[in-house]
Amino acid sequence: MNDLTWTETQIRRLKELGVDLENISTDFSTPAQRNKVFQEVEKKQVKEKRALLSDFLIQGKKSLLDALREKLGLILHQQGFTRVTTPTIITRAALGKMTIDEDHPLFKQVYWINEKQCLRPMLAPNLYSLMLDFSRLNHRPIRFFEMGSCFRKESDGARHNSEFTMLNLVEMGLPKESRHDRLKELGSIVAEASGLSDYRFEREDSKVYGTTLDIVAGPENIEVASGALGPHPLDAAWGITDTWVGMGFGLERLVMTSSGDTTIGKWGKSLSYLNGIRLRI
Ligand code: ATP
Ligand code: MG
Repeated sequence: MNDLTWTETQIRRLKELGVDLENISTDFSTPAQRNKVFQEVEKKQVKEKRALLSDFLIQGKKSLLDALREKLGLILHQQGFTRVTTPTIITRAALGKMTIDEDHPLFKQVYWINEKQCLRPMLAPNLYSLMLDFSRLNHRPIRFFEMGSCFRKESDGARHNSEFTMLNLVEMGLPKESRHDRLKELGSIVAEASGLSDYRFEREDSKVYGTTLDIVAGPENIEVASGALGPHPLDAAWGITDTWVGMGFGLERLVMTSSGDTTIGKWGKSLSYLNGIRLRI
């Protein structure tokens, strides 16, 4: 054993290349020896990573995020859900109807493009608007979902992207007493389709937001989804009187946790990674 270890720069580079620093031998006694070991490890890693990337491109593989998007789209169609696609740019007024104004913690996270418009931080305002239009129809239940980008200014980067992909599903007009079970059932369908086995539901009752049912996964209890049921305190602002259940999933969080990873950066939209593979190598 000795005290000599990697330099800061070497550590950064090894991490970049995905080397597990815990399991790599630091059995060297001079800086020159260390640098030689470093160069060997780096060379091997670069070769492996380039081969992975080539393989991905040559075979025209799909990223885990894209594959999950497609799989969930199919499964939800099979479950009778219709896909909707709504605008990414939403209004200040729509956020206001979600009670997201200056006093709300989410307000500071919003990307404004001008006085009255912003990039949506969530799908819920648009989906609420559709709920009202669909509620005029006679058939029940009414089932639909959207998958699309949401944007938030975040301070914690390990579990957050500033642009991420939300899946939000809604089922309206179900018997009041079946809402909880149905929400769990829908949550499980998505969680299992995403390859999660180690996940739990966490229920919270809040006077302001009603009941929320989150899904957390993995040993670190990472939140991957958040669900709600209506009648809900926000419904009146949108003119909704139906019963409903809804759940919003972060697709990058699902990919990250089902891959056994605890950092999100390499799984989302990125110029630095393709399907978790570092591009600048
Ligand atoms: P957190 O407390 O982790 O920031 P949240 O309570 O802000 O999450 P919600 O507003 O409930 O999250 O959003 C629903 C889901 O969207 C979350 O369960 C998570 O999976 C995902 N999500 C939220 N913010 C981000 C983000 N910045 N990057 C990636 N996924 C996110
Ligand atoms: Mg948050």
